[in-house]
Amino acid sequence: ARTAPSIALTHRFADAVPEMAVAWRADAPPAPALLVLDDALATELGLDPAFLRTPAGLAFLTGTALPDGAQPVAQAYAGHQFGGYNPRLGDGRALLLGELTAPDGTIHDLHLKGSGPTPFARGGDGYAAVGPMLREYVVSEAMHALGIPTTRALAVVATGRDVVREQILPGAVLVRTASSHLRVGSVVFANATGDRDVLERLVDHAIERHDPETAAATPTDRARALLDVVIARQADLIARWMLVGFVHGVMNTDNMTLSGETIDYGPCAFLDAFDPGAVFSSIDRQGRYAYGNQPGVGEWNLVRLAEALLPLLADDTDAAISVAQDALDAYRPAYNEAWSAGIRAKLGLGAAHEGRDEDAVPSLVSDLFDLLAFARVDYTLFFRHLATAARGDTDPLRSLVADPGPLDLWLARWLALAPDPEAMDRVNPLYIPRNHLVEEALAAASDTGDLTLLHRLTDAIRSPFTARPGLERYAESAPDAFGPYVTYCGT
Ligand code: AMP
Ligand code: MG
Ligand code: MG
Repeated sequence: ARTAPSIALTHRFADAVPEMAVAWRADAPPAPALLVLDDALATELGLDPAFLRTPAGLAFLTGTALPDGAQPVAQAYAGHQFGGYNPRLGDGRALLLGELTAPDGTIHDLHLKGSGPTPFARGGDGYAAVGPMLREYVVSEAMHALGIPTTRALAVVATGRDVVREQILPGAVLVRTASSHLRVGSVVFANATGDRDVLERLVDHAIERHDPETAAATPTDRARALLDVVIARQADLIARWMLVGFVHGVMNTDNMTLSGETIDYGPCAFLDAFDPGAVFSSIDRQGRYAYGNQPGVGEWNLVRLAEALLPLLADDTDAAISVAQDALDAYRPAYNEAWSAGIRAKLGLGAAHEGRDEDAVPSLVSDLFDLLAFARVDYTLFFRHLATAARGDTDPLRSLVADPGPLDLWLARWLALAPDPEAMDRVNPLYIPRNHLVEEALAAASDTGDLTLLHRLTDAIRSPFTARPGLERYAESAPDAFGPYVTYCGT
């Protein structure tokens, strides 16, 4: 594995669209100290974990010692925040150090969050606090372990700098990797420059990064190909969020990637009790980004992507709109197909049942979700206890609801289809970063610097489907005393 001098960081994004890149440097942290490092991810990237733990490694991780040839930039992007258009957001407290080629040939952005104010900082201070960066570390790791496309967290480094929020908090830098940081908002920004050439170069760069096999040769065909593939990836991603009970919390167009990876773990949370209206973010007062709204918001965001591509989609606007509409028409069927396949798997009626019970399943599924919403049961436990019911013991499942009557009727219909409990346990997680567990781990880390609970939680969620002794409390619902959960952006 490579150590400092041999780490090569390219700057393909800055080369492709210099209009969207501002050369910038990370602030030097006064007293850097490594809090967490994902050794397995480092190794996958071809980085030596032992080196990353040295002072030189920390200087590399915090962007203060740059490999030869690196050209860190803050990326420009626009975004619709809660529906309102902001033409100039960009990396206000983040930095793209460069692109790293892993030993397997894949290319990854190496990116910092909390590395100091950039020209895009507007009113913000450019910094981040330890708690929220550790939160992103554990939740993004959980998403990866669940098989959901996501940006990754390589490390969190305490900076030794105080960060002023409602109180004074210890500062940190998150070292994030992603297959790119291109967003819907990046395309919106490129289009808003009014320079067709910038938009074309951004589209070409996105295709080179994510879909190099695309045969489309003309700018028109390439824009359409990009639109199609982003629609397909986002439909699949959001279906996965819904199936696992993930609430992103801030689905602004600047927080939706072209790669189809989940990005920006600010106010996200997993459902405890099933509730289509679940909202955790302190600022989402209208519930725009509520759990049940996510598929619709995804579509709204993709319309913004299509609009930004209109100049390339056809020679005249009417024709371009009809091409965009044609592409967007694929979103709902793609989402429905991904979600339906996923829910069948969760119910143990997946591949082995293919072609069987086609008439029974849709009403079984819709009745189940009525039941879940009415009973407000723990969403994660419900599916694990359902597998136990398929093995013959319905007690744990029945204990989740106040009145088991309607559940019993539903169970009889479902059991008649001979669900496969082994297959269910391979797709229904037992260990997720439950809100009360994340909060207790972050509180210990922030109050006393004790990372024991954080490591224990990370170990649990890294293998989410396999029950292990000693982890019983990691599989339990939040205690009633935990109360309603509130999350925050930009902390
Ligand atoms: P987010 O809600 O996390 O997607 O952030 C929206 C925008 O606010 C992005 O342009 C961020 O770079 C910027 N931002 C968030 N927090 C800060 C901060 N503390 N300092 C500077 N910019 C920030
Ligand atoms: Mg963001
Ligand atoms: Mg954020």
